[in-house]
Amino acid sequence: RKTIGVLALQGAFREHRRMLDGLGADTRLVRWPGELEGLDGLVIPGGESTAIAKLLDIHGMYGPLRAAHGRGMAVFGTCAGAILMARDIEGARPDQEPLALMDVRIRRNAYGRQIDSFETTVPFAGVEGGPVKAMFIRAPRFADLGSGVRVLSAADDGEPLAVREGRALAVAFHPELTDDVRVHAYFLGSVVGA
Ligand code: GLN
Repeated sequence: RKTIGVLALQGAFREHRRMLDGLGADTRLVRWPGELEGLDGLVIPGGESTAIAKLLDIHGMYGPLRAAHGRGMAVFGTCAGAILMARDIEGARPDQEPLALMDVRIRRNAYGRQIDSFETTVPFAGVEGGPVKAMFIRAPRFADLGSGVRVLSAADDGEPLAVREGRALAVAFHPELTDDVRVHAYFLGSVVGA
């Protein structure tokens, strides 16, 4: 069994945990550096990336989280989580420091207002059974990808929606707010321990 932490500072962490529990992972909510100990993977949920960044800083999580990833812990970020994983955030607040776990530049709030949120399906490489369900809520846009970054999902117009670099997976949408567990299963099966 894999031990997966869900960063529980703000946002949709309960929904992620429920999905991972359903897939048979050992899960743990993570708020403080010591709770990163022994994790095979960590999920950074969607929510509000400015709030999560502030709490990461207050909890002294930046260094320990980067170090754990450097030692092999896989990281899966959705929406605000994806924003924080980037090396560079366009539209960042002055005090919003990226974790810089991936060689991508990301643009906040590229898909309009909260009221424009919508559910759709998108293709996802490495996942069986056709397109996956995806909820978009003020989603970010991957603006610039380094050469080691692979696009796993793209919109019809070529817009990247999910990207992977080694043990880092970042997704612009919210799979955890649908009933489709396949992106989480992909994380557990293909990214964790890769
Ligand atoms: N717009 C939010 C941010 O910048 C992300 C939205 C989300 O996670 N659904 O943090």
